[in-house]
Amino acid sequence: MAEVRLSNITKKFGALTVIPDMSLTVPDGSFTVLVGPSGCGKSTLLRIISGLEMPSDGEVMIGGEDVTFAEPSDRGISMVFQSYALFPHMTVAQNIDFGLRLAKTPAAEREARVAEAARILALEDYLDRKPGQLSGGQRQRVAIGRSIVRQPKVFLFDEPLSNLDAALRGQMRVELAQLHQSLDATMIYVTHDQVEAMTLADQIVVMNRGRIEQVGAPMELYDRPMTEFVAGFIGSPK
Ligand code: ADP
Ligand code: MG
Repeated sequence: MAEVRLSNITKKFGALTVIPDMSLTVPDGSFTVLVGPSGCGKSTLLRIISGLEMPSDGEVMIGGEDVTFAEPSDRGISMVFQSYALFPHMTVAQNIDFGLRLAKTPAAEREARVAEAARILALEDYLDRKPGQLSGGQRQRVAIGRSIVRQPKVFLFDEPLSNLDAALRGQMRVELAQLHQSLDATMIYVTHDQVEAMTLADQIVVMNRGRIEQVGAPMELYDRPMTEFVAGFIGSPK
């Protein structure tokens, strides 16, 4: 099981306090969306959960284990970024397989997992292509495929669709929702896009200046915003 629990997380960069004191529970199997304006600390929080950044204070628990000081690779998480750096000289299959090869997963197991990821992401017909021969949406799916094969308990997404055009973003939203259903994993998804938050989340965390303004189901925030900020942010898509 992979609930993610943050207790009294503080993050300072020198004199700048980006996250003053944050506690948050992300339920196991939830699709939790962190939303808030640029610079409010969303990426920093994800990096703390993933272990790419250490908190100045506080605790990170994943699946009931204290991982505050654990290496990223020991946390059972996988991160998908907005700039999906695929290896241009490798095929789709090799790109998806890359992390498994590094982890020295046996060849037969690797092959099975790559095939399964390709099936889930509808990439079966593209496995021999190079990234340069793919559309933006297909490349993003390859990036997600690299995460899936590692079978993480928790997926972290940092604005994964923000480089795609509006039509493709809409399509990928549907695919991400399906992915969540089929994988039975916990997903923490960062975006500054209200529509994405409203359609994908079963729990939305509205952040502002490193603090949580409100946590709740999409319609709950929409119908009963507790602050002006939440009302403005959820109520009026920009
Ligand atoms: P968001 O993802 O919500 O746009 P970030 O988490 O990237 O916000 O950044 C939050 C704040 O922390 C910003 O003011 C940013 O400039 C600052 N920040 C992020 N990373 C660093 C860093 N490595 N050093 C100094 N300041 C940083
Ligand atoms: Mg960010």
